[in-house]
Amino acid sequence: MNKSLAPIILLGPPGAGKGTQARVLEERHGLVQLSTGDLLRAAVKQGSALGREARTYMDAGKLVPDDLIIRIIADWMQKPEAQKGFILDGFPRTQAQAKALDAMLEKKNLKLRGVIEMKVNDPALIERVCGRFTCSKCGEGYHDKFKPPKKPGVCDKCGNTQFVRRPDDNAETMKTRLEAYYAQTAPIIPYYEKRGILYHVDGMAGVEEVTKQVEEVLKRI
Ligand code: ADP
Ligand code: ADP
Ligand code: ZN
Repeated sequence: MNKSLAPIILLGPPGAGKGTQARVLEERHGLVQLSTGDLLRAAVKQGSALGREARTYMDAGKLVPDDLIIRIIADWMQKPEAQKGFILDGFPRTQAQAKALDAMLEKKNLKLRGVIEMKVNDPALIERVCGRFTCSKCGEGYHDKFKPPKKPGVCDKCGNTQFVRRPDDNAETMKTRLEAYYAQTAPIIPYYEKRGILYHVDGMAGVEEVTKQVEEVLKRI
């Protein structure tokens, strides 16, 4: 099997840097980022039935029910993008999702290439999430302290001057999101460890150093 087609999972708590690294890998390796958070936010914006249902959970910082997420992923897998190698960012987040993913991949004759765990401590996660914002036009991610636009108020990538912050990126909701991560998501780590496909990078390092470590893992797998 062509290994560049085998999906990679970026696993880590909210604010760990999954989206940041996934976008670097997209640019460098022609992989496709599959972010369940982005898919859900698009559904919320559209105002679809799915978006309306998901919104109450997202605003509260709770996980959206498995059946809803699994349906979204199954739909996405039918798209042409899914024929390229993809990076899963924010999925799976529960045991049930991990099992459903295995079943979906088996049907497509695909095997997971590896799961890359990004560890970051809680104070750093809170600081990252509370300072996060994105360009409203191109979606480039920024941070008040760690990655401000080079020219204040202007997107480095597209020159746009409008930025957005997520309503759930606040200290209070972050508490619930972290609890959900440790209670529901962290328990899937041993599931991948037992299969010998779990790898680690130091998520506390700077963006470029993390990318370097991710690239080193990708060379090995
Ligand atoms: P996730 O997708 O895991 O929730 P993001 O990639 O959106 O996390 O990163 C959260 C915030 O932290 C963003 O504002 C981003 O610019 C910043 N960030 C990402 N990686 C790092 C890093 N290694 N060091 C410092 N800040 C980072
Ligand atoms: P982050 O990594 O910064 O927490 P995401 O964008 O991945 O943010 O997720 C935002 C919200 O969307 C989550 O708090 C949750 O409500 C919902 N969500 C995203 N992915 C999943 C998933 N795989 N399972 C359940 N809920 C999800
Ligand atoms: Zn932009």
